[in-house]
Amino acid sequence: AKDLGTHGAQLYDPSMIDGRAADAQLGDDLTGALERDELTVLYQPLVDLSDSRPVGVEALVRWQHPELGVVSPARFIPIAERNGTINTLGLWVLREACAQVASWGGDTYVSVNLSPRQLQEPTLVHDVLAVLQLTGLEPGRLVLEITESALVDDVAGTTMLAEFRAHGIRVAIDDFGTGYSSLHYLTRLPVDILKIDRSFVAELNGTPEGAGITEAILRLSHALHLTTVAEGIETTEQAAELQLLGCGIGQGYLFAEPLPPSQMLSLLTRSSQP
Ligand code: C2E
Ligand code: CA
Ligand code: CA
Ligand code: CA
Repeated sequence: AKDLGTHGAQLYDPSMIDGRAADAQLGDDLTGALERDELTVLYQPLVDLSDSRPVGVEALVRWQHPELGVVSPARFIPIAERNGTINTLGLWVLREACAQVASWGGDTYVSVNLSPRQLQEPTLVHDVLAVLQLTGLEPGRLVLEITESALVDDVAGTTMLAEFRAHGIRVAIDDFGTGYSSLHYLTRLPVDILKIDRSFVAELNGTPEGAGITEAILRLSHALHLTTVAEGIETTEQAAELQLLGCGIGQGYLFAEPLPPSQMLSLLTRSSQP
């Protein structure tokens, strides 16, 4: 902290000012990033925990910034949400991912992240259906991932989820267990899949205490007839314990990190061989 006494009016930590300026600069850069072709989509396999074969992929966006190199989505997605770029960016990722996965054929599905702000866009359902039409991807091969905080008390957002499902598109709650939704609320949400946040997976260590929350989520999920996906699986022990607890699908560095399309396709091709 700075010495406020001697320097009088120094209200902000200079690093904070820099941070804000950097965010504003990134926000400006992001506006043109799509046209400059700086965004790419990577694919991380979602595997059947009983045989480690991929059943789907999650689309994860990357930004190759001309000066800064690769910028993490954890850094630029919040900025895009604030300046509104997320709507264009999100639809671009969706189009890119649907086209890619449609081109692979087969029945691998693709899971695409939607940010809360996209759910506030009245044209979202129409836009998503248009992307399916354009790319030829069957609705049953698309999953939309939404964090629970995006849904709490958002009636319009919840109505949209119901519309997606009426069209055969599945809905997943991302980072489940880290948000604010009450369990009662969950029973009324139109969703198909719960993704157990990786912070709970990281606690799996063979002890009942470590497995507590994961076990509770799996029971709940089962009772509500939902599919469960565990994210952030890094060890064979975690994978084995999750399978034992009845979790069907897993995702994490143990199986593969997010991959460029060509590598993801060869993984799919290899694992479809007997
Ligand atoms: P997320 O949706 O929870 O995605 C999973 C994140 O966990 C990804 O980080 C992935 O690379 C990482 N991950 C996968 N396996 C492991 C593992 O075994 N261990 C650990 N420690 N991490 C693992 P990534 O790609 O950096 O994305 C970060 C976040 O950015 C995503 O978290 C998501 O919230 C957001 N994001 C990424 N792409 C998009 C997008 O197209 N649209 C929106 N709205 N958000 C996106
Ligand atoms: Ca996700
Ligand atoms: Ca997640
Ligand atoms: Ca997350």
